[in-house]
Amino acid sequence: MNLKLSPTDALLLVDLQNDFLEGGSLAVTGTETILAAAVDYLKLFVNQELTVIASRDWHPPDHCSFAEQGGPWPSHCVAGSHGARFSDQLTLPAEVHIVSKASSAEEEAYSAFQGTDLADYARRQGISRFYICGLATEYCVLYTVKDAISQGFTVVVLEDGIRAVDLQPGDGERALAVMEQQGAIRATRGDLQS
Ligand SMILES: [Zn+2]
Repeated sequence: MNLKLSPTDALLLVDLQNDFLEGGSLAVTGTETILAAAVDYLKLFVNQELTVIASRDWHPPDHCSFAEQGGPWPSHCVAGSHGARFSDQLTLPAEVHIVSKASSAEEEAYSAFQGTDLADYARRQGISRFYICGLATEYCVLYTVKDAISQGFTVVVLEDGIRAVDLQPGDGERALAVMEQQGAIRATRGDLQS
């Protein structure tokens, strides 16, 4: 595959926040390589002055997804905390568009489109195709990809820039298969012209 980037392309970094990375409260294991890949994709898009968007979980301290509220996850990505910050390895451009999600106590949002201005923002910027990487494959990446497609955007999933939790072995692979069934293009760094 040979994908040539154009001004209608945007890079969407999904939830590359400290709590989901090594040492975080809800860390996905083995994220070093995908973080390095994300850094590389970011450079590629910034060098070509293309749109970069970063989504983040941005929860209140009593968020419904936290175990102490009866939810499935340990406390993570509390708005304003160190854990909620993007990785220091990512040098986000000043013009980056940040999308904060699940920022009220009763609302859970795996998708970066859910309850955010992402679709409107992208349309205003003339974006028609998203290149998506980040965490985690079968949760926020999957739901973001599905919503992007249902909103009429073309999606390229950057397979070397995503990582699964795999609570059940194979969850990540199954999620990728679903994305592909729904029309997402699977690609890695070698498929993109630099
Ligand atoms: Zn969350």
